[in-house]
Amino acid sequence: MSEIKDFVTSLEGKPVLIYGMGRSGKATVRALREAGASLVIGDDNEENLEEYLKEYKGINILDIATQDFSKPAFLVLSPGISFTHPRPHNVVIKAQEAGLAIISDIELFFRIHPNLKTVGVTGTNGKSTVVSLLSHVLTQAGIKNALGGNIGTAVFDLNVEGKTPPEWVVLELSSYQIDLCPHFRPDISVIINLTPDHIDRHGSVENYAAVKERLFEQEGAAIICSDDAYTKAMLARARAAKIREVIEVSYHDVAEVKTLKGEHNRQNIACVFAAARKIGLSPELIKSVIESFPGLNHRQYLVRTINGVAYINDSKATNAASTATALSCQDNIYWIVGGRKKETGLAGLEKFANNIKHAFLIGESTEDFSDWFDKYGIKYSRCYTMENAVEQAHTKAQNAGAGAVMLSPACASFDQYLSFEKRGDHFAKLVKELKEA
Ligand code: ADP
Repeated sequence: MSEIKDFVTSLEGKPVLIYGMGRSGKATVRALREAGASLVIGDDNEENLEEYLKEYKGINILDIATQDFSKPAFLVLSPGISFTHPRPHNVVIKAQEAGLAIISDIELFFRIHPNLKTVGVTGTNGKSTVVSLLSHVLTQAGIKNALGGNIGTAVFDLNVEGKTPPEWVVLELSSYQIDLCPHFRPDISVIINLTPDHIDRHGSVENYAAVKERLFEQEGAAIICSDDAYTKAMLARARAAKIREVIEVSYHDVAEVKTLKGEHNRQNIACVFAAARKIGLSPELIKSVIESFPGLNHRQYLVRTINGVAYINDSKATNAASTATALSCQDNIYWIVGGRKKETGLAGLEKFANNIKHAFLIGESTEDFSDWFDKYGIKYSRCYTMENAVEQAHTKAQNAGAGAVMLSPACASFDQYLSFEKRGDHFAKLVKELKEA
């Protein structure tokens, strides 16, 4: 018998409620259904739900008004649905009134597979970078691992019941997911940093911090990067609590790596280093493997170098703050910028004017942004499309013979693309097609 079938048998026929049919909800439905669980599923978008259920005969739709919340085993809630703030979703209120446990797919997954060893990574920024780099380090060191959670692969999509299960599961955990994990705590918990964010969903920065801090509540190791005031306070509390082994790290501890530039990435590397050490790898091995990391696609990712000019895809930078990081890490930048503009526009980026050789404006923000470039005396061209921008930036950069052609849009992609990934892929494709002179 598989662990998941055993678990479903232990429910003794009690139905499982699943609310929110995003990626994680769908993966949960598929896995529990294959194991024979009785399911009742819901979503705010009823049309989508009906469409989805066409493939899944025999699953009941959760109607919040008529559902009996006292009988089911528990409710699996999508992290996208409001649990506490600004106000709990109706399904949460009803479940709580009936005393029904509300959990995330992650909590459920590790109830089913309690023996899997886990590293859980959280923080306001850098989560994807840290888990990807850690997974890369483990793989290169010959340690079989699975990467999932907030980073895109839902835990129920991880293959953990095959012939050779992963030795470690590396999890990216958002605060919403942790909020829905009453019991699950990783063996190694990592917090990279904490700055006020997602206050709308947590009520206050204190609540937001407290949710993340729950990762340290039980035995195991706590890796805390203490570069900001919130994580410093957590470090002090974790040490005083004496529950977990506490490992303090800081960006001061590490040197920069070519594919992971900037102080923020030193913070990420410090966390990965400590986690890999805790797993048992030698410092020399970790260091050499980190140096071979190709980087993370769409995040200051080096697509190609032509005659000393770097072509960098930073499509994930969808606001000025993210683009600021990228502009601070390069000189002589031929900057491709624009798209669906955010409220803050390009405010603050004038600080990096000296790093910018020329800007190439794309997307619906082209006209708006040209005023900003005029104001700060930065040279620019109106390109509108990615094709024009790549061609013109390439010509200018190659004539100069040095520098970086970088897509770092500081805008959402939705005016011209379905996602920032599609935008970055388009840029990379055009760059790969460029001819070397
Ligand atoms: P997350 O998964 O937490 O959203 P990512 O690793 O995808 O974070 O990085 C998103 C962006 O956040 C990066 O492009 C970079 O600009 C910025 N970033 C990455 N790591 C850090 C860090 N440790 N501190 C501050 N900003 C960071």
